Amino acid sequence: MRKGLTLVYTGNGKGKTTAALGLALRAIGHGQRVFMIQFMKGSAEYGEIQAAQYLPHFTLVQKGLPTFVKKGDPGREDLRLAREGLELARQVIQAGEHELVILDEVNVAVDYGLLKAEDVLELIEIKPEGVTLVLTGRYASDKIMEKADMVSEVKDIKHHYRQGIPSQPGIEY
Ligand code: ATP
Ligand code: MG
Repeated sequence: MRKGLTLVYTGNGKGKTTAALGLALRAIGHGQRVFMIQFMKGSAEYGEIQAAQYLPHFTLVQKGLPTFVKKGDPGREDLRLAREGLELARQVIQAGEHELVILDEVNVAVDYGLLKAEDVLELIEIKPEGVTLVLTGRYASDKIMEKADMVSEVKDIKHHYRQGIPSQPGIEY
Protein backbone atom coordinates (compact mmCIF):
# COMPACT_ATOMS: atom_id res chain seq x y z
CA MET A 1 0.00 0.00 0.00
CA ARG A 2 1.53 3.30 -1.09
CA LYS A 3 1.58 6.08 1.49
CA GLY A 4 2.26 9.65 0.46
CA LEU A 5 4.85 11.49 2.56
CA THR A 6 6.14 15.00 3.05
CA LEU A 7 9.88 15.16 2.36
CA VAL A 8 12.14 18.17 2.93
CA TYR A 9 15.59 18.69 1.40
CA THR A 10 17.33 21.66 2.96
CA GLY A 11 20.82 22.83 3.96
CA ASN A 12 23.61 24.93 2.47
CA GLY A 13 25.27 22.23 0.37
CA LYS A 14 24.69 21.27 -3.24
CA GLY A 15 22.23 18.53 -4.13
CA LYS A 16 18.72 19.45 -2.97
CA THR A 17 17.11 20.12 -6.33
CA THR A 18 18.98 17.23 -7.90
CA ALA A 19 17.79 14.91 -5.11
CA ALA A 20 14.22 15.91 -5.92
CA LEU A 21 14.86 15.26 -9.62
CA GLY A 22 16.23 11.84 -8.69
CA LEU A 23 12.97 11.07 -6.90
CA ALA A 24 11.06 12.22 -9.97
CA LEU A 25 12.99 9.77 -12.16
CA ARG A 26 12.39 6.98 -9.68
CA ALA A 27 8.66 7.71 -9.47
CA ILE A 28 8.33 7.87 -13.27
CA GLY A 29 9.89 4.41 -13.37
CA HIS A 30 6.96 3.16 -11.33
CA GLY A 31 4.49 4.71 -13.74
CA GLN A 32 3.71 7.53 -11.31
CA ARG A 33 2.87 11.05 -12.43
CA VAL A 34 5.11 13.88 -11.32
CA PHE A 35 4.40 17.60 -11.13
CA MET A 36 7.29 19.89 -10.29
CA ILE A 37 7.00 23.62 -9.68
CA GLN A 38 10.20 25.63 -9.49
CA PHE A 39 9.85 28.76 -7.42
CA MET A 40 12.19 31.72 -8.01
CA LYS A 41 13.48 30.17 -11.23
CA GLY A 42 12.66 31.22 -14.77
CA SER A 43 15.22 29.92 -17.18
CA ALA A 44 14.89 27.25 -19.86
CA GLU A 45 18.67 26.70 -19.53
CA TYR A 46 18.11 24.09 -16.82
CA GLY A 47 18.68 20.56 -18.13
CA GLU A 48 15.54 19.36 -16.36
CA ILE A 49 13.40 21.72 -18.45
CA GLN A 50 14.84 20.20 -21.61
CA ALA A 51 14.62 16.64 -20.24
CA ALA A 52 10.94 17.07 -19.33
CA GLN A 53 9.96 16.71 -22.97
CA TYR A 54 11.50 13.23 -23.14
CA LEU A 55 10.00 11.94 -19.91
CA PRO A 56 6.47 10.57 -19.64
CA HIS A 57 4.21 11.84 -16.86
CA PHE A 58 6.59 14.64 -15.92
CA THR A 59 5.30 18.21 -15.84
CA LEU A 60 7.69 21.00 -14.91
CA VAL A 61 6.54 24.59 -14.49
CA GLN A 62 8.72 27.53 -13.48
CA LYS A 63 7.18 30.30 -11.43
CA GLY A 64 9.93 32.86 -11.17
CA LEU A 65 12.01 35.36 -13.08
CA PRO A 66 15.45 34.59 -14.53
CA THR A 67 16.89 37.30 -12.27
CA PHE A 68 17.79 37.07 -8.56
CA VAL A 69 15.20 38.06 -5.99
CA LYS A 70 16.34 40.77 -3.58
CA LYS A 71 16.06 39.49 -0.02
CA GLY A 72 13.73 41.65 2.04
CA ASP A 73 12.72 43.65 -1.01
CA PRO A 74 11.15 41.33 -3.61
CA GLY A 75 9.73 42.86 -6.77
CA ARG A 76 6.01 42.83 -7.54
CA GLU A 77 6.53 40.30 -10.32
CA ASP A 78 8.49 38.01 -7.97
CA LEU A 79 5.59 38.10 -5.51
CA ARG A 80 2.97 37.59 -8.18
CA LEU A 81 4.74 34.56 -9.66
CA ALA A 82 5.31 33.00 -6.22
CA ARG A 83 1.60 33.36 -5.42
CA GLU A 84 0.73 31.85 -8.79
CA GLY A 85 3.03 28.95 -8.00
CA LEU A 86 1.36 28.47 -4.63
CA GLU A 87 -2.10 28.49 -6.22
CA LEU A 88 -0.98 25.99 -8.87
CA ALA A 89 0.51 23.76 -6.16
CA ARG A 90 -2.77 23.87 -4.23
CA GLN A 91 -4.76 22.84 -7.32
CA VAL A 92 -2.39 20.03 -8.29
CA ILE A 93 -2.19 18.65 -4.74
CA GLN A 94 -5.93 18.82 -4.18
CA ALA A 95 -6.69 17.14 -7.51
CA GLY A 96 -4.58 14.17 -6.38
CA GLU A 97 -3.79 13.11 -9.94
CA HIS A 98 -0.02 13.28 -9.42
CA GLU A 99 1.57 10.87 -6.97
CA LEU A 100 4.64 13.11 -6.61
CA VAL A 101 4.48 16.90 -6.29
CA ILE A 102 7.79 18.74 -5.99
CA LEU A 103 7.95 22.36 -4.87
CA ASP A 104 11.52 23.27 -5.70
CA GLU A 105 13.02 26.22 -3.75
CA VAL A 106 9.77 26.74 -1.90
CA ASN A 107 11.73 27.00 1.37
CA VAL A 108 13.72 29.89 -0.08
CA ALA A 109 10.52 31.57 -1.27
CA VAL A 110 9.31 31.49 2.36
CA ASP A 111 12.65 32.71 3.72
CA TYR A 112 12.66 35.61 1.23
CA GLY A 113 9.13 36.62 2.21
CA LEU A 114 7.49 35.69 -1.11
CA LEU A 115 5.27 33.15 0.64
CA LYS A 116 4.29 32.50 4.24
CA ALA A 117 5.30 29.33 6.08
CA GLU A 118 1.57 28.94 6.86
CA ASP A 119 0.82 28.73 3.12
CA VAL A 120 3.12 25.74 2.82
CA LEU A 121 1.85 24.16 6.05
CA GLU A 122 -1.65 24.33 4.57
CA LEU A 123 -0.47 22.39 1.51
CA ILE A 124 0.84 19.63 3.77
CA GLU A 125 -2.53 19.70 5.55
CA ILE A 126 -4.68 19.34 2.41
CA LYS A 127 -2.45 16.74 0.76
CA PRO A 128 -4.45 13.59 -0.08
CA GLU A 129 -3.14 10.38 1.49
CA GLY A 130 -1.58 9.05 -1.71
CA VAL A 131 0.35 12.19 -2.68
CA THR A 132 4.01 12.66 -1.81
CA LEU A 133 5.09 16.26 -1.41
CA VAL A 134 8.73 17.29 -1.73
CA LEU A 135 9.86 20.69 -0.47
CA THR A 136 13.36 21.83 -1.36
CA GLY A 137 15.55 24.82 -0.58
CA ARG A 138 17.85 26.25 2.04
CA TYR A 139 16.58 27.71 5.31
CA ALA A 140 13.49 25.49 5.66
CA SER A 141 11.27 26.90 8.39
CA ASP A 142 11.18 25.01 11.70
CA LYS A 143 7.40 24.70 11.49
CA ILE A 144 7.62 23.03 8.09
CA MET A 145 10.37 20.64 9.22
CA GLU A 146 8.32 19.72 12.28
CA LYS A 147 5.35 18.77 10.13
CA ALA A 148 7.36 16.82 7.53
CA ASP A 149 7.85 13.05 7.67
CA MET A 150 11.48 13.26 6.55
CA VAL A 151 14.02 16.05 6.59
CA SER A 152 17.47 15.78 5.05
CA GLU A 153 20.03 18.52 5.42
CA VAL A 154 22.66 18.73 2.70
CA LYS A 155 25.79 20.15 4.30
CA ASP A 156 28.39 22.12 2.40
CA ILE A 157 31.82 20.68 3.07
CA LYS A 158 33.49 21.66 -0.19
CA HIS A 159 32.22 23.23 -3.42
CA HIS A 160 34.10 23.53 -6.71
CA TYR A 161 32.68 27.05 -7.00
CA ARG A 162 35.28 28.16 -4.45
CA GLN A 163 38.05 26.95 -6.78
CA GLY A 164 36.68 29.41 -9.28
CA ILE A 165 34.96 26.77 -11.42
CA PRO A 166 31.85 28.36 -12.94
CA SER A 167 28.42 26.68 -13.26
CA GLN A 168 28.59 23.58 -15.45
CA PRO A 169 25.80 22.28 -17.71
CA GLY A 170 24.56 18.95 -16.38
CA ILE A 171 25.93 19.72 -12.91
CA GLU A 172 24.66 23.13 -11.88
CA TYR A 173 21.95 23.61 -14.48
P1 ATP B 1 21.43 21.56 -7.18
O1 ATP B 1 20.43 22.35 -7.96
O2 ATP B 1 22.72 21.47 -7.89
O3 ATP B 1 20.90 20.26 -6.69
P2 ATP B 1 20.84 22.77 -4.66
O4 ATP B 1 19.44 22.71 -5.09
O5 ATP B 1 21.22 21.97 -3.46
O6 ATP B 1 21.78 22.37 -5.88
P3 ATP B 1 20.64 25.59 -4.23
O7 ATP B 1 20.78 25.99 -2.81
O8 ATP B 1 19.28 25.53 -4.81
O9 ATP B 1 21.40 24.20 -4.42
O10 ATP B 1 21.61 26.48 -5.07
C1 ATP B 1 21.55 26.52 -6.46
C2 ATP B 1 22.91 26.66 -7.08
O11 ATP B 1 23.90 27.11 -6.18
C3 ATP B 1 23.45 25.36 -7.68
O12 ATP B 1 23.99 25.68 -8.94
C4 ATP B 1 24.55 24.92 -6.76
O13 ATP B 1 25.65 24.29 -7.40
C5 ATP B 1 25.00 26.21 -6.16
N1 ATP B 1 25.41 25.92 -4.78
C6 ATP B 1 24.78 25.10 -3.91
N2 ATP B 1 25.45 25.03 -2.76
C7 ATP B 1 26.52 25.82 -2.89
C8 ATP B 1 27.62 26.18 -2.05
N3 ATP B 1 27.72 25.70 -0.82
N4 ATP B 1 28.54 27.04 -2.54
C9 ATP B 1 28.42 27.54 -3.79
N5 ATP B 1 27.43 27.26 -4.62
C10 ATP B 1 26.49 26.40 -4.19
MG1 MG C 1 18.01 24.04 -5.51
